[in-house]
Amino acid sequence: MIWAKEETFSREEIEKVQLEKLKSTMIYTYEKSVPYRKKMHAAGVKPEDIRTLGDLRKLPFTYKSDFRESYPMGLFAVDKKDLVRFHASSGTTGKPTVVGYTKQDLEVWLNNVTRVACMGGATSDDICQISFGYGTFTGALGLHGGLENLGAAVIPMSSGNTNKQIMFLQDMGVTLLVATPSYALHLGEEIRSRGLDPAKDLRVKTGLFGGEGMTEAMREEMHKVWGTQFVCTQNYGMSELCGPGVAGECTELCGMHINEDWFIPEIIDPETEEVLPPGEKGELVITCLGKEALPLVRYRTGDLTRLDYAPCKCGRTTVRMENLSGRADDMLVIRGVNVFPTQIEEVLFKIPEIGPHYEILVERKNRLDVMTITVELIDDRLLDSYTKLSELEGRIKSNLKSMLGLATNIRLVAPHSLKRFEGKAKRVTDLRKDGL
Ligand SMILES: [Zn+2]
Repeated sequence: MIWAKEETFSREEIEKVQLEKLKSTMIYTYEKSVPYRKKMHAAGVKPEDIRTLGDLRKLPFTYKSDFRESYPMGLFAVDKKDLVRFHASSGTTGKPTVVGYTKQDLEVWLNNVTRVACMGGATSDDICQISFGYGTFTGALGLHGGLENLGAAVIPMSSGNTNKQIMFLQDMGVTLLVATPSYALHLGEEIRSRGLDPAKDLRVKTGLFGGEGMTEAMREEMHKVWGTQFVCTQNYGMSELCGPGVAGECTELCGMHINEDWFIPEIIDPETEEVLPPGEKGELVITCLGKEALPLVRYRTGDLTRLDYAPCKCGRTTVRMENLSGRADDMLVIRGVNVFPTQIEEVLFKIPEIGPHYEILVERKNRLDVMTITVELIDDRLLDSYTKLSELEGRIKSNLKSMLGLATNIRLVAPHSLKRFEGKAKRVTDLRKDGL
């Protein structure tokens, strides 16, 4: 089901809507936001200079650091009395990023999340278990609102308490699960360890995943654990932009449709900040349209992707962003080689003897970067056979070497010995700042 007519507009129609909204958004932002007015003065651009969509390039970028510098509410463009909701994202260092919504912002957000839920195959008949942590995180309340708006029934389970999660999945006949992909995988494994088969003993058929990216290899793992009947899609957003609802995968599984009548995407070279031609891979930059509480112009998301403007088999014409291949700031530089954790994941998931959980440790020993990857065996009987174990270790190392061009250390550990995560998985520990 396609929720909004804007999702099937022609390119001409969508660009017309974007241009009208961009012009009014820039007049509004210039008037209401002191930090933006200053930025625009510095760039020598006024709202009336925006006459075409191409003029977007004249506008200055917004960075994550702008939020830090104006903490908590310096970028807000409305009086506190007009705000109806706050959310905050956990800052990896120091203060969180605080975002706010007016009544109209909440309405737009709700409808964008509903679109994304429909893209992923949700219907009004679904019983949805939301296993994201509630609280100030936008994911849980965002999906909660969107699914209710669609007419589905929502169980606000929140994260943690795996026993209770499984009990509700069974007893309530849950058909749709909202979670991070890593938690969904963990939950599926726990269900199996209790002697249940998700494909036969549960009714869950749809997964709406977010909070972290899902690689194709991880989707395959998900099918191994939950069964092939489980259609799982991911959706994209971040609290600065609104929360979830910016883009979502449809069931054709060929990238995430961006809600273009509310978000204009650009792809730039993260080093030079130059806009790249259509189809090239680079950093995603988003301009939010019509946002009242917290206008956001050319926001550097840090996420690496490419855009595909070809219409999709699902009937939607909105541009698709390729599933994320990493964040610009997740990239590790190891002995001068650029390494994304998703590349490591791709290699590991293709090796049948090891499970989907892994940890990456980077250290500096004798002035050299050393990367150690810990993975779990699926069958602990392998631990008794030195020959098989060292053959497996050698195979993992050589597959990683051909993917990354780097030598790595491998630690094979017993099944279920690595930490499981209820929210975003933390897989990388980089100790190099401390050592020499
Ligand atoms: Zn589609």
